[in-house]
Amino acid sequence: MARSGLSVRTGALSISTGATAVGALAYVGIVDPHRPGTLFPPCPFRLLTGWNCPFCGGLRMTHDLLHGDMSAAVVDNVFALVGLPLLAIWLVWRIKRGERAFPRPAVVVIVASAVIWTVVRNLPGFPLVPTLISQ
Ligand SMILES: [Zn+2]
Repeated sequence: MARSGLSVRTGALSISTGATAVGALAYVGIVDPHRPGTLFPPCPFRLLTGWNCPFCGGLRMTHDLLHGDMSAAVVDNVFALVGLPLLAIWLVWRIKRGERAFPRPAVVVIVASAVIWTVVRNLPGFPLVPTLISQ
């Protein structure tokens, strides 16, 4: 009895999570985050420092991917474009093997990669800068 109740709750949670993800993707696909004045929240790191954080341009990259524009997605955030799918595949692989999801060396590599990417992408003249289209 308790087991089937848990399954129903897990199933409902999965369906609602999936529906939320599909809705969010639909919104990012329909509303262009490249244009100012949209309802996307500004990046707090960028507001405070003036620098792009490791994930700045992530929504624009997602919009580009949903519209099949791979080169624009690379320009907007190649780190997230390559890193997040690799991280997801690696996490699924580890969890399926019954291993801890985030061992300490992996956390160090992830954080160091994000810090290095943040510094590199904010260097003057670095070509991969998230794009904004002025109206
Ligand atoms: Zn940011």
